[in-house]
Amino acid sequence: MKHVDVLVIGAGPSGTVAATYLANLGYSVMIVEKQEFPRYVIGESLLPKSMEHFEKTGLLPALEEQHFEIKAGALFIKDGKEFRISFDDNFTPGWTWTWQVPRKQFDKTLADETQKKGVEIRYKSTLASIDFSDPELVKFRTQLLDSYQDCTAKFVIDSSGYGGVLTKMLDIPLHVSPTSNMAVYTKLKDDTRDQYATPMQISFEILETDLWLWVIPFHNGNTSLGFVGNRKYFSDFLEEGADVTASFNRMFDRSVKFKERFQGRELLFEPKVHTDYSRSSEKFFGDRYVLTGNTTEFLDPVFSSGVAFATESGYVAAQLVDRQLKGEQIDWQKEYVDHLEYGINVFRTYVKEWYTGNLQKIFFHVNINPLMKKQLTSVLAGYVWDNNNPFVKKHDSIIRTLAEVVDIEKMAKAKA
Ligand code: FAD
Repeated sequence: MKHVDVLVIGAGPSGTVAATYLANLGYSVMIVEKQEFPRYVIGESLLPKSMEHFEKTGLLPALEEQHFEIKAGALFIKDGKEFRISFDDNFTPGWTWTWQVPRKQFDKTLADETQKKGVEIRYKSTLASIDFSDPELVKFRTQLLDSYQDCTAKFVIDSSGYGGVLTKMLDIPLHVSPTSNMAVYTKLKDDTRDQYATPMQISFEILETDLWLWVIPFHNGNTSLGFVGNRKYFSDFLEEGADVTASFNRMFDRSVKFKERFQGRELLFEPKVHTDYSRSSEKFFGDRYVLTGNTTEFLDPVFSSGVAFATESGYVAAQLVDRQLKGEQIDWQKEYVDHLEYGINVFRTYVKEWYTGNLQKIFFHVNINPLMKKQLTSVLAGYVWDNNNPFVKKHDSIIRTLAEVVDIEKMAKAKA
């Protein structure tokens, strides 16, 4: 019987940050990872907020050696108008840049570095069973093909992302949001990019209020492209026997900025169609286990918040696990769930107001106040726990109110 202090399920950003934090403190940690790395997963545009987690766990130097493309801000485009944010114009003190990353290379680097910090990663392995009935030790059985091993741990962190291992094994209800949004994405070899101005700029083009395109250029010559929005724009993709590549190409008819650069180009793989990604677990923790990253909640790709939540939750959970293993009584609801929910609720408002069009109105308003832009940029950098920022603190009213002011100004201008 093998014993570890902590079992982590999944070697994505959330699992590796949590595992490394604990290994750095001397705990024995095992990660069980279903796939072999490098493996593909979506989520390539990071937020500066994540950088502090990589820095504090010592994962940063290995990432820096990869020379990923720096993401210093973002460009939003609508009807030929541009709204540019720069993270060095941030209201909240903290990291002012991050990266745009091919996740295969990014996650493999994180996982390799996590192993170097002493964590055992069992690839192509999963959990055959888990048993919390013993009050001292959690019993679990790992499975690699036909071979099984019985193990024990003091605590379990489920960072299995879209796998949702514990939600399935413990029957924790998972609420899939009734949103009708979906995404279609792929990559191409962007070997003509130098013909265009600022070819490495990460960009988000709004094609309709509820349809947008992401363009994420990578240091390795490839660029990630994805359309996200209401299902009504994607009916061709959902038909039986659909020619997904042809439909993907047709989507560029709506793009003013990127049609010429990308339409009709050979794709590196058939576009992936992703539906029902907005989901939330009813419980984030229980007796000797905690869920982190995408297993807890995922809202929408629009503000690239997924990895930032994954690393924040992994980092905070690992701190609490350490304290609990040292004998402290932890109020998981207050210190973990309430903390995460605070940030999730801020982003939830921004996602909602993006699709109502209110946020877009503010972005493309000619007279956006510089201080407000700083505060807005800070939210978009992932600093959604900064209570000093009115765009965080009053998130549930400020966007709506500002959008109304923009409307009034526009009406006054039209009358003049
Ligand atoms: P993951 O990165 O998914 O890692 C979980 C790991 O668990 C995987 O390696 C998996 O193999 C493993 N696993 C699964 N099941 C099991 C099992 N049974 N046993 C063992 N291991 C298992 N986020 C961003 O930050 N930026 C973006 O630009 C962005 N774009 C997105 C676009 C779309 C269309 C969608 C749907 C999401 C996007 N996201 C983005 C979100 C992002 O994909 C996730 O939030 C992020 O990857 C979560 O990290 P994680 O560590 O929680 O999970």
